[in-house]
Amino acid sequence: MLQFKKNVLYIEQVKLSDIAKKYGTSTYVYSKNQVINNFENYKKTLCSKDGLICFACKTNSNGGILNLLVKLGAGADTTSGGEIYRCLKAGFNPSKIVYAGVGKTAEEIEYALKSKIFMFNVESFEELDAIDKIASKIKVKAKIAFRINPYVDPDTHSYIVTGKKGTKFGIPYENAVKAYLIAKQKKNIVITGIHSHIGSQILDIGPFKLAAQKIKKVIDAVEKNGIKIEYINCGGGLGIEYEKGQKVLSPKRLMSEIFPIFDKDKKFIFEPGRSIIANAGHLLTKVIYRKVSGGKSFLIVNAGMNDLIRPTLYEAYHEIVPVKKTSAKKVKTDVVGPICESSDFMGKDRMLPVVEQGDFLLVTCAGAYGSAMSSEYNSRPLLAEVLVNGNKSTLIRKRASYSDLLLNEI
Ligand SMILES: *Cc1c(COP(=O)(O)O)cnc(C)c1O
Repeated sequence: MLQFKKNVLYIEQVKLSDIAKKYGTSTYVYSKNQVINNFENYKKTLCSKDGLICFACKTNSNGGILNLLVKLGAGADTTSGGEIYRCLKAGFNPSKIVYAGVGKTAEEIEYALKSKIFMFNVESFEELDAIDKIASKIKVKAKIAFRINPYVDPDTHSYIVTGKKGTKFGIPYENAVKAYLIAKQKKNIVITGIHSHIGSQILDIGPFKLAAQKIKKVIDAVEKNGIKIEYINCGGGLGIEYEKGQKVLSPKRLMSEIFPIFDKDKKFIFEPGRSIIANAGHLLTKVIYRKVSGGKSFLIVNAGMNDLIRPTLYEAYHEIVPVKKTSAKKVKTDVVGPICESSDFMGKDRMLPVVEQGDFLLVTCAGAYGSAMSSEYNSRPLLAEVLVNGNKSTLIRKRASYSDLLLNEI
């Protein structure tokens, strides 16, 4: 939904320079129709089966985005009490909310139970005990799936691998059947499914298939013991095209490889995050200074690692484009933020046309793990967020002010 018309960059039918004028910079800008397309790609492929597409809302938990997904029929994959709260406020039916995470607290478990969420993705024996106890205390039953760690290593950045032996996630593969046998004995636990999520930004089908085959083995062993598993939750993890030419998997390809592995009567849950929102959102920022130092060219922009931490945290690549195409010659440039850390950069060694102070740049595909991971580090107020639909733009989060920085101080 990004395109140049007469050398001017548009998101849908709105000029990015107009967004900058209207809302200031830096600003996160989202394309509503890109979100719709991305979600529909999952939904129409799943439609042959019973199940749910649960948006992994840790990737972007803005209420405007969440409410859009509610209207499209999404469920939500949550990882904290706060996320459950946001999802309920955004209008998700609690019966479509699933809840994962290795460190659910007693308060969070009780809140989730009282909110009547669909199911817990349980990551340890200790957590199973806690859920059973709390459910008994408030006299409800808790639906659960075990998150199984299938010991599959997707070839992705080490910080976003979750399904490999020795990570903190899930029930170790060799204990999977035992977990179900123990759960069967618990009075307030209702076994509903099985879950695995092996990592993020995965570009090959191999690891997904291997994980599914290993999960199938667990299901067979569990069902031999008279325990029925209704839902298979395949997690999220589909990669997106951050760099031009990167080959990505479609939801259709993913599901067409996974469905035949399991019996026909199974219901499925998918938990896409990045592949729904990453390429729908971009960070619009302004060049504060051009600087040459030590033989290098720098563009110092008004967006820092507090606003978008992915380059710093994962050495992630985001394409950076000037919102006005020029014929100016290209020079090798580091695009850096204003924060007092050498790790504060948006992109290094990029061939960019010489742009001037005050010009705008777009850091693309920043819709996932962008705003959601932002902070006020260096006392920088959180950014505005704008949703574009056709030729209209709507503010979905207003820019924070200096006084917001002191909000909870006493
Ligand atoms: C993060 C996460 C997801 C989403 O992963 P993406 O790579 O963004 O699709 C899904 N499920 C669980 C349990 C997660 O932790």
